[in-house]
Amino acid sequence: MGRFFVPRVKKNFFSLLLLSAIFSTIIVAQLGRAADFSPSPEPVAEVEITVLPNPMDRGAPGRVVISGLRPEAPVKGSFDGKAIFFFPHRGELMGLFGADVMIKIGDHPLKVTWGPGPGEQRSLSVTVKDKSYGVRDIKVPQSQVDLSPDDLERTKIEREATIKALGTQSPDKLWSGAFIEPVNGRINSSFGRQTRLNGIMNPRPHAGADYLVPEGTPVKAPADGKVILTGNHFFAGNSVYIDHGQGLISMFFHLSRIDALEGQDIKKGDILGLVGKTGRVTGAHLHYGLYINGARIDPPVFRQMTDTINSDEFTNLPSKSKL
Ligand SMILES: [Zn+2]
Repeated sequence: MGRFFVPRVKKNFFSLLLLSAIFSTIIVAQLGRAADFSPSPEPVAEVEITVLPNPMDRGAPGRVVISGLRPEAPVKGSFDGKAIFFFPHRGELMGLFGADVMIKIGDHPLKVTWGPGPGEQRSLSVTVKDKSYGVRDIKVPQSQVDLSPDDLERTKIEREATIKALGTQSPDKLWSGAFIEPVNGRINSSFGRQTRLNGIMNPRPHAGADYLVPEGTPVKAPADGKVILTGNHFFAGNSVYIDHGQGLISMFFHLSRIDALEGQDIKKGDILGLVGKTGRVTGAHLHYGLYINGARIDPPVFRQMTDTINSDEFTNLPSKSKL
């Protein structure tokens, strides 16, 4: 009997193994099918939403990272009433936002919604701190401060064109990797500075970074995108505006020459024009501005953020606080 008993057990054991393998395959196949056909917004795990940095400075960019949702999940967000668009990033969803340089200091709501119909919503609080950016004195011809009726009319028309360009919200993210500097040079007037113009304080802070580089220096696109506006404007001189997608817009002012065409697709490093001193300036420099869905942010700080999110540093940040 023992002679037959052992092989029978072995036979049963192998049968069980075979059966369990078949059942596992069926279960996995069913799970796979469920994954393929279930509505995409369904969470795959517990949804976690991280905001970095929090607290943040006025004029700083921020990012929201959502884990636990499928990368293709339709997610909407807003910060301080301004839209946040999301894109897949290393198996998670990421959205960028900005604390405008003139935002009210204090707590602001950041909302994220996903799912069909009204969906699920989470509301978080982001604290914006004050930051001192300093003051600069600028002397220009008084005719560039007290405008003639013709110049005033001209600036109104130009403002309409720039507001339209800054309101561009292409659904797709057009940039990838880290942003690069448009020129290599010292920033002689940083973002956020209050400007005393011919002795009178201008209520609008400096909405870009001024790079002190010689006239004729080529200006490079900091990232991929599309040229949405070019022109010669009263204050900004020869200007180029690039849409990088999802509400991220960069702009380059006071050029001596524009080498980009409206509607043109741009690759990172492409030459947009040459540094000049057109518009209301005291000398040759490049003014580089960056907006995220209407929020004016500090371009060099944004470049550092794109460096961080494209390095491994991001996933290992100890300060990655969950909310
Ligand atoms: Zn400037």
